Amino acid sequence: MKTLQALYGGTFDPVHYGHLKPVEVLANLIGLQRVIIMPNNVPPHRLQPEATSEQRKTMLELAIADKPLFRLDERELRRDTPSWTAQTLQAWREEQGPDAPLAFIIGQDSLLSFPSWYQYDTILNNSHLIVCRRPGYPLTMKEEVHQQWLEAHLTPHVDDLHTLPAGKIYLAETPWFDISATQIRQRLQNGQSCAEMLPEAVLRYIQQQGLYQKTDNDALKG
Ligand code: ATP
Repeated sequence: MKTLQALYGGTFDPVHYGHLKPVEVLANLIGLQRVIIMPNNVPPHRLQPEATSEQRKTMLELAIADKPLFRLDERELRRDTPSWTAQTLQAWREEQGPDAPLAFIIGQDSLLSFPSWYQYDTILNNSHLIVCRRPGYPLTMKEEVHQQWLEAHLTPHVDDLHTLPAGKIYLAETPWFDISATQIRQRLQNGQSCAEMLPEAVLRYIQQQGLYQKTDNDALKG
């Protein structure tokens, strides 16, 4: 039997403990040996990141340097077209073959917006979805039809993730971390400390690069 592999996508502008810690706990909870972190290039439904692709990649490298659980995959970063998760997972499935158990990890906020993702309903054909808890977001979908979709795929059985190649949604009981990249960017702009929110090496790099600082334009706006 092939081992379960998981992909973890995001903007990581910057990467923080709210990304890393729930997934480390998740790996222990469900017996996951490898998580592939895949930063995206042009997030289709979001504003452009403040850091460049190169800077986001370097921050991730620094963050996972001492964490063998994670491996960085630059395929979306190298593309100059939008990153569509559905297409990335389709390509990954073709690489790994029809029987390999594959999963895509998301936070609870992403589950709520999931039905607005490009071809979201095809994603479960190629992978499972594993959802980490995130404070401040409800556990049920806004629309009844999406709640029904969720319930039709939910499983409480970790074994399903290991034995089936795709198709299940698992709500993992990971700890809550009330941290977001938006909050970190704002705090840094205001000169507030972020010491407990992201790895020290990443914070040092942010300072070296002068990232997320108040710009002259901001100063003019007051
Ligand atoms: P931003 O504040 O810029 O929107 P973010 O902190 O939400 O960014 P992303 O890079 O957009 O980070 O998120 C990548 C993935 O990590 C998403 O699936 C998101 O749900 C998840 N995630 C981010 N922060 C947390 C957190 N504190 N707890 C659980 N999951 C999280």
